[in-house]
Amino acid sequence: MTSTSRPRIAVVGGSITGPVTALLLLHAGFDDVTVYEAAPASAPLGGGLIGLEHPALDVLDRLDIPQHEFVAHDSEAIVQMTIRDRHPAETIRRTYPGRNTTWTLLHQALTRRLPAGVLHTGMKVTALAEQTGQPELWFRDGHTEAADLVVFADGRSSTGRRLLDPDRNLRYAGYVAHRGIADTTPEPGLRDFLRLQPCPGAQFNLAPVPGGCDWTFYLNCTSSEYAQRFGADPTRRVFALPRHVGPAARTHVDTHADLLLPADHAAVVHATTTRMAVPVLDITPPQRMVWPVGAGQAVLLGDALAPVRPHTARGANNGIEQAAGLAAALTQHRKYAADLTAALHGWQRRHLPAAVAAVHRGPAIGHQLGLGTQTAQ
Ligand SMILES: Cc1cc2nc3c(=O)[nH]c(=O)nc-3n(C[C@H](O)[C@H](O)[C@H](O)COP(=O)(O)OP(=O)(O)OC[C@H]3O[C@@H](n4cnc5c(N)ncnc54)[C@H](O)[C@@H]3O)c2cc1C
Repeated sequence: MTSTSRPRIAVVGGSITGPVTALLLLHAGFDDVTVYEAAPASAPLGGGLIGLEHPALDVLDRLDIPQHEFVAHDSEAIVQMTIRDRHPAETIRRTYPGRNTTWTLLHQALTRRLPAGVLHTGMKVTALAEQTGQPELWFRDGHTEAADLVVFADGRSSTGRRLLDPDRNLRYAGYVAHRGIADTTPEPGLRDFLRLQPCPGAQFNLAPVPGGCDWTFYLNCTSSEYAQRFGADPTRRVFALPRHVGPAARTHVDTHADLLLPADHAAVVHATTTRMAVPVLDITPPQRMVWPVGAGQAVLLGDALAPVRPHTARGANNGIEQAAGLAAALTQHRKYAADLTAALHGWQRRHLPAAVAAVHRGPAIGHQLGLGTQTAQ
């Protein structure tokens, strides 16, 4: 990848971090950018509420994505309630320095802006090799593609991380984020993000989304209970999709809602047909983001670099901020012949501390809430 060439950039992962990276690079004038996404185009869209802070919102602004396209309710309020005997006992109101979106709204806003031919779905990357001094991606269907720069934005169980940084394994943290999208809300006209704290070992979050509300119910759960309820170990089934949520998992969540939540919130849980679950995972903090592959480079970003606990509300924020930093470093290289290796290492030096801090912050928050059993190393 020299400053005079037309670098081939392969982005692995077409969820949030990958499309943001591709759009930023296209806007910066890189014109050979391809996004490879393992899921087929017909895969059902799922995924709930995501809070984005101002730096990430500003990146989306610079991509000319109007905020109303992905922010359905523009409240900045977080209403935190301590619950006793299923009734609110104490309420604290905070202001969030950002806005809430949903994975679905954001993913659609991003991917509809990718020019035709950039996003290739149904393309699962299985390996990265050095071929005649350049990185080469291998796909499940036997296909190969050469690139000068490979950007792995392939999420929690990243193939890129397994290949580039194989000693950093995922560890189950001992609790589950049960999620649902309901077509009702506990109160009409709800605009704010609600956080209900009934007792140690449980937290319930709820916020309005188009057509109803999105809730997340954190409950402790052993690894074997997870496997019984969702059909595989938590480090293997890192997302339990609606088809994996059987009657036992539903009953477990409904029972806890009846025991711990105010009646109107428990009713929303009961009425929710579409449910998912996400096991909370920890990972050894990353020490690097960039690897040379022959004369080319490979980088990890977003959840591929470091999935962080949802309470930190930093996963998507980190991915978007890292993508913007990467696009800036590559632009300096292309426009002004900045040394590429130095530019990438400067990028790493700026973004690694925030990723490491979020990895550490997750277990500290979990501990305060009585959730989970393990700590990050
Ligand atoms: C309950 C909950 C609440 C959250 N709340 C927040 C919040 O408030 N704020 C926040 O910032 N973050 C939040 N997050 C985290 C946020 O959702 C993630 O950090 C974010 O979705 C990560 O995006 P990503 O694009 O890096 O990875 P992912 O969304 O995991 O996407 C990875 C993509 O890569 C694809 N892929 C995987 N392997 C391959 C392969 N081998 N080849 C090709 N493609 C592949 C996958 O199919 C997927 O589309 C929350 C998470 C949860 C579970």
